[in-house]
Amino acid sequence: MRRFLKNLLLMILCLSLLASLSCAKTKNEGTVSSDSSSSTETSETSSTEIKNRSNKVDPGIRVDFIDVGQGDASLIVCNGEAMMIDGGSSEKSDLIYSYLESHWVYDLKYVVATHPDDDHIGGLSGAIHEASVERAFCSVNEYDSRSFENYRKSLNEQGVSIEVPNAGDTLDLGGAKVTFIAPIETFEENNNNSIVIRIVYDEVSFLFTGDAEILEEQSILASGQDIKSNVLKIGHHGSSYSSTKDFLNAVSPDLAVISCAEGNDFGFPKQSVLDRLKKMEVKLFRTDLNGSISIYSADGKTLTIYQDKELGDPYLAPAVPQSDSSVVYNCDYILNNSSRKFHLPECESVEKMNPKNRLEYNGDREDLIEAGYEPCHICNP
Ligand SMILES: [Zn+2]
Ligand SMILES: [Zn+2]
Repeated sequence: MRRFLKNLLLMILCLSLLASLSCAKTKNEGTVSSDSSSSTETSETSSTEIKNRSNKVDPGIRVDFIDVGQGDASLIVCNGEAMMIDGGSSEKSDLIYSYLESHWVYDLKYVVATHPDDDHIGGLSGAIHEASVERAFCSVNEYDSRSFENYRKSLNEQGVSIEVPNAGDTLDLGGAKVTFIAPIETFEENNNNSIVIRIVYDEVSFLFTGDAEILEEQSILASGQDIKSNVLKIGHHGSSYSSTKDFLNAVSPDLAVISCAEGNDFGFPKQSVLDRLKKMEVKLFRTDLNGSISIYSADGKTLTIYQDKELGDPYLAPAVPQSDSSVVYNCDYILNNSSRKFHLPECESVEKMNPKNRLEYNGDREDLIEAGYEPCHICNP
C-alpha cells in the first residue's frame, strides 16, 4: 500500500503539469485546424453516427466530489453507467442539473440520498430533472421536510419509488460492485442512519459515509464487514463526532475527501480529525480548498486526481470566530455525571452537554478511570 501511495503522490504531482500540457494541446490543435482551414472544410466526414441522448462512455471509473458548498454531492460514472450519492442542498439543484448536463450524464442508474438532511437530499431533484433514473434510495421512505417531498415528487414523476436498502445489498454499476454497508441498526439521529456505500472496481475502492458519526461507525465495525478502501469520503464534513481512530484504521485510506464550505458556520473540518489523517499519512483533499475533486481510474489499478484549485494547508482547520456563548473552561477535564464520561475542556461534546450533568475537574486521568469514568471517544482525553 505504501508503494501505491507513492504512485498516487506521483500522479498528483503530475497533475498541474498535465493540466498545462492539455491546455497546450488544445491550443496546438486549434492552430493546426485554422492553418489548414480550407482542407478541413472540404474534407468529407466519412461516417456520421447518430445516437439517442446517452451517457458519455469513458473506460474505467470516475468519482467526482462536486463542490456544493456546505453539503455532499458525488457523481460516480463507471464504464458509462452513472450513480449519484447526495446532491448538496436545495439551492444547489440548478448546479447539479448543469453539472450532469455538461458531463454528458443523461441516465442515472442509481440515485442515493444518504439521509434526508437538506445538505444531502436537497439538490438531488436537480439531478432527477436532468436525467432519467432507474432506482432511487434513501435511509427512510417517509420524512417530514420539503426537500424530502421534492425528492419523492420528482422521482414519482418518473414512476420511481424510494427504496430503503438493507446492509449487505449489492448493485452493479458498469462492472463496479456497489455494496450497502449501513445503516445496520436505527439510531435516534438522522446522521447516524446514513446510508454508507462501498464501491469496488477491480483493485480500487471507495467508501462513502454520508454524515455517519461515532455510533454508526461503531456499528459498522462491529458488523465485521470489509470497509478497507483506497478513497474515503470523510463522514459528516469533518466533524469531530466522526472519523474515530478505530474507524479510520479499519478503512485505512490512501486518500480522503472532505466536503464542506469555505468559512462554514460549524468550523468544519475539525482539527482533531485533520490531525488523525495527517498522522496516518492520508493524502487529503477538501472541497473548501480544492473546489470539485475528480478521481479517475481507467485501469482499475491506479488513480489520477484532478482538482479545481489548491489553497492552503489541508491539515489545518479553518479559524472559527468564537461565539459569545462559548465558555472557556480552566480545568483539566470536564465530567459528565450522567454518561460517566470525561472530556477535554475543548471537546465539542462539552457544549452539547446538559449543564446539569456538567462538572469541572482538576486532577489525574487515572483517578477518574478508577472512579468509573470513561474517556470520551471523540477527544481521547
Ligand atoms: Zn451533512
Ligand atoms: Zn446530516
